[in-house]
Amino acid sequence: MEALPNTAEPSLTTRLERLPGVGTARAERLAKLGLMTVRDALMHFPRDYKDFSGAHAIADLVEGEHASVAGLVTDVASRTTFQGRAMLTVTIEAAAGDRVKAIWFNMPFMAKRFEPGMRVVIAGQPRRGRQGWEFAHPEVRWLTADEQAHASEWLAIYPLAEGVQQSHVRLAVQAALDHAATIVPEALPPETLAEKHLLPIDEALRQIHCPASAEMITAAHRRFVYQELLMLQLALRMHRGQQKRAHAAPAIAVDARLDARIRARFPFEFTAAQRKVCGEIATDLARSEPMNRLLQGDVGSGKTAVATYAMLAAVATPVKPASVAGEAAAAEAAPGEPATVESASGARPARYQAAIMAPTELLARQHFAGLERLLAGSGVEVQLLVGGQTAKQREKILGRIAAGQTDIVVGTQALVCGGARFRQLGLVVIDEQHRFGVLQRAVLQQGEAEPHTLVMTATPIPRTIAHAVYGDLDISVLDGQPPGRQPVATYRVTPAELDRWWEFFRGKLTAGRQGYVVVPSVEESKRDLASISSAFEELANGPLEAFRLGLVHGRLKPVAKAGIMEDFRAGRLDVLVATSVIEVGIDVPAATLMTILDAESFGLAQLHQLRGRVARGPTRGICGAVTGSGDEPHPRVDAFVASCDGFDLAEQDLRLRGPGDLVGTRQSGAPPLYLADLLRDGAVVAEARRDALAIFETAPELADPKYDRLRKLVIDRWGEMLGLGQVG
Ligand code: ADP
Ligand code: MG
Repeated sequence: MEALPNTAEPSLTTRLERLPGVGTARAERLAKLGLMTVRDALMHFPRDYKDFSGAHAIADLVEGEHASVAGLVTDVASRTTFQGRAMLTVTIEAAAGDRVKAIWFNMPFMAKRFEPGMRVVIAGQPRRGRQGWEFAHPEVRWLTADEQAHASEWLAIYPLAEGVQQSHVRLAVQAALDHAATIVPEALPPETLAEKHLLPIDEALRQIHCPASAEMITAAHRRFVYQELLMLQLALRMHRGQQKRAHAAPAIAVDARLDARIRARFPFEFTAAQRKVCGEIATDLARSEPMNRLLQGDVGSGKTAVATYAMLAAVATPVKPASVAGEAAAAEAAPGEPATVESASGARPARYQAAIMAPTELLARQHFAGLERLLAGSGVEVQLLVGGQTAKQREKILGRIAAGQTDIVVGTQALVCGGARFRQLGLVVIDEQHRFGVLQRAVLQQGEAEPHTLVMTATPIPRTIAHAVYGDLDISVLDGQPPGRQPVATYRVTPAELDRWWEFFRGKLTAGRQGYVVVPSVEESKRDLASISSAFEELANGPLEAFRLGLVHGRLKPVAKAGIMEDFRAGRLDVLVATSVIEVGIDVPAATLMTILDAESFGLAQLHQLRGRVARGPTRGICGAVTGSGDEPHPRVDAFVASCDGFDLAEQDLRLRGPGDLVGTRQSGAPPLYLADLLRDGAVVAEARRDALAIFETAPELADPKYDRLRKLVIDRWGEMLGLGQVG
């Protein structure tokens, strides 16, 4: 491509309209894509490429598979079909002498653009017609004889906005490359480029926009993906390094005696998987480095029990003399004893505190109730921090927490993080974390020591993704379910079967079971509320007339919600009609029936979470997924009906939605990445992680002039998000 004359001094901040050939009108359009400067254009990477290399031999064509063919136009024929459509057929003879036809309907003007003897490349999806291969409405490139000689051309396809065409973007990018490709600073040190066989930045930019070959597309792509993932790993390391240096964690040792005593509190034996994970956590807690562990386990696998075990270990451990000097003697007087008794004076050795945070108030209340049951008579003080408490109540609780009288605090994340000051927090548990929580973790750190952190999730995250997102996070997996669990019998209920389903459902209710009816609700808005209420009325006056129904939804006052939940738990209600507020963690073992209305409107993971509510007791759960459609297949609902394995479903979900969506930023809270795809580029994630470690070994915090550029880019890109502002 010919270089356009550059009028201005090369600069990445030059505005696009000042580049030759772009002009104000085009620049205005490009602004709709966020492209204002030369840098913007250079960094606007193609989303795809069209192969115009003409490399395909006709013998290699495959029906429906994109291909391009180069050749000589031998015939141009226009006619009108008997349906009255204009049809243009261009016959192209490829080098081998084979012919293909390019066909256009209703585009008579195209005829003028072809003449026998022209050299062209057409690209598209071939179809086998009656007289050989046909390309309907292919893309065309007209070649000069000279071009035909080395006809390798890959055309970049860019993300667009309304009113912006590929040609506008191509032109601007080309102008930007000509203007400034050579002055883009190189972020990677020369030895890294050499060692990893990566393209230098100017070459990589040229090749990603105007590739010379398929191999060069791959090479350019590899360079940018690697750089992006390396920068993320470096940012995560910096973040972690700063935390570690700033804060030591309390060493909480769990010896065999304490282990046995904690486990004896539970009404069941821990499963092998629970014991294994408790062991992993105990090892972490014993170190003076903050634990940073993700616990993954399917719905109902018993994560809460594991978290409770860890919290009891923390609150049984006396605060180290160094931390609370005055109480050293008292602490030593009762080594290893849990906080079971308060002395007459109310003074007692200081123990570490623990907090568990739930995503909703409902779940917080449930955790609280569970802990109270479990710890009745133990002397361990548990306090609840949720909305709906009076200012006076809250003040009193906060006072007890600050004084160290409260051992375990249960609450919503907002309230615990926002309000509570702890005397000596040892462990934080974040329950049912559906979002990647890089950002939330540091919030509770206060005072000298940073607490250990345990994040629990029922949404399996592929290991590479977890690593990419959390850096050096450790992962425990609770595989398997507590004994006696049976997979929920799950049915798809079509409209024709609905009456029979309700009859069946009523039969089970009459026999003494309890159940849920789940109604969809997009945003729990006022309008939703009306439709939820009318769904409730329909049930109450229709199929479930004879039963005691309760209704919970997201706009109900938490106290009212908790009241209804309690009625349901106590058996004063037969059926709980609910929106997906019951999705996470609600634990009523006696409820074993579920009807999910409008099942198509839920995601696969969400359906599985919902079903988890009726997989808790010894009685086999039953779940009906009511669909609005009849017998046509519905991939999500059908997958849901076919499998009860959360990890299996998560994988299918990934496949159905495409990996981009799982880690899509809005969905998951994962860091936004431009080119890298955490699933596809798993191997590069691992490589970048190793390299970041190695770099930090020789140049902690990237403190070496050769990393200056990289360091600046890392901080520009991730500094704000990860709180790296204070660096250096
Ligand atoms: P999760 O939070 O992983 O969804 P929970 O911790 O709420 O699961 O446990 C689900 C149910 O299983 C609870 O009713 C709990 O009491 C019970 N449970 C947990 N561990 C065991 C076990 N080892 N044996 C029997 N029941 C268990
Ligand atoms: Mg749970």
